[in-house]
Amino acid sequence: MSASVALRLPSIDGLLRHPACLPLAERYGREALLASLRQLLDELRSSVVNGQLSAVEISPDVLAGRVGERLVQQQRSQVRRVFNLTGTVLHTNLGRALLPEEAIEAIQMAARYPLNLEFDLASGKRGDRDDLIEGLIRELTGAEAVTVVNNNAAAVLLTLNSLGARKEGIISRGELIEIGGAFRIPDIMARAGVRLHEVGTTNRTHARDYEAAISPRSGLIMRVHASNYSIEGFTARVPTAELAELAHRHGLPLLEDLGSGSLLDLTRWGLPAEPTVRQALLDGADIVTFSGDKLLGGPQAGLIVGSKALIARIKKNPLKRALRVDKLTLAALEAVLGLYRDPDRLAERLPSLRLLTRAQADIFAQASRLQPAMADVLGEVWRVGAVQSLGMIGSGSQPVARLPSAALCLRPQVSRRLRGRHLLNLEAALRALPIPVLGRIDDDALWLDLRQLDDEPAWLAQLPLLQVAQ
Ligand SMILES: *Cc1c(COP(=O)(O)O)cnc(C)c1O
Repeated sequence: MSASVALRLPSIDGLLRHPACLPLAERYGREALLASLRQLLDELRSSVVNGQLSAVEISPDVLAGRVGERLVQQQRSQVRRVFNLTGTVLHTNLGRALLPEEAIEAIQMAARYPLNLEFDLASGKRGDRDDLIEGLIRELTGAEAVTVVNNNAAAVLLTLNSLGARKEGIISRGELIEIGGAFRIPDIMARAGVRLHEVGTTNRTHARDYEAAISPRSGLIMRVHASNYSIEGFTARVPTAELAELAHRHGLPLLEDLGSGSLLDLTRWGLPAEPTVRQALLDGADIVTFSGDKLLGGPQAGLIVGSKALIARIKKNPLKRALRVDKLTLAALEAVLGLYRDPDRLAERLPSLRLLTRAQADIFAQASRLQPAMADVLGEVWRVGAVQSLGMIGSGSQPVARLPSAALCLRPQVSRRLRGRHLLNLEAALRALPIPVLGRIDDDALWLDLRQLDDEPAWLAQLPLLQVAQ
């Protein structure tokens, strides 16, 4: 064919009337079809002008087929379930804690029906959403009062702004941490209008350092649990009880950001010790902040607990309105907190705790069970082992602690030079499955840590669809 014969794309109207497009209009709606057709033709236009497409490639039949595929893609939700086989249980990028059935039911109820979100059923008057969970949180932490916001970053921002604006916030240099996702304590302090007054050194801060910093400009003392890193060796940290005594002697409140925090002592389940909210309050912290979706195992939320007078000040801050928690979260949070009233059964009922405490032998047995199916799908090029591995809690909790776990370890049996590409191809193929499977590459192998593989049938069912590029 002569290159001088200019091809033209079919018209939108012609395509809309094409028999192959009629069922698409029926299924997805005319507006959606039209939008997708326009996008497709716009994308093809320059290739047509440059003579890069053949007449067949722009025939109405082929275009109808392509727009059909596009509509399937576009209808698919962007929010997708995945298998988290990374070995990190509370993975911030993968949505952190999985909720218990009780919380899921509570969310459904709250989504489906009107509810007493800010309505006091006893008096018939306007209520306060915090009241719905205040009783439970007081019981579980010993706090006098409570308020809940969207996440712990919001809890820290709101608390600092409410109690320390235009004053100085005294904090140890060892606690000026970055949590990730642009949350840095010095920046949050600045945004909250609190002037940072850092004391001590990175590894050692003494009571006398805090004492020397106190002046009429001081507004509060802050302590941040260094949740996502650890300082070891020649270190010194003032115990909370001593710091609280010092703060109170000077009429200052002590805030403690626990980050994850825990409502119960996790060592009873063999997990690394994490400070409890109750203990921080007993030690004298006036306000304690912590996350709802880290070790607590609930929905994303930030809990602020502490003295009645200070919580009242925090609740009066107009920022509270901007940071408040929504009804679905509140419903889920109440359900999760309810489970904590029965600690003996918590590890069965709360998914995050059940997963964190899953025995290595059990995970290893699962790895051995799944190894043949995985080896079968991957063929000769890969060596598939059922092996012991080390996972972690995640969300910055106990960064150094490792959870003994088990994994499928997938090793490409190719020359050193080709290994990297093979691993990346396999990783991409696993991500392309209907329920994407996420593992981690380490030591020239792809590891699928099975601690969190609950839905084994769904995982196995999609395995034959795996297509690894060579
Ligand atoms: C995780 C964390 C935060 C932020 O909590 P989010 O719930 O992620 O907003 C703040 N402070 C500390 C110490 C943390 O570990």
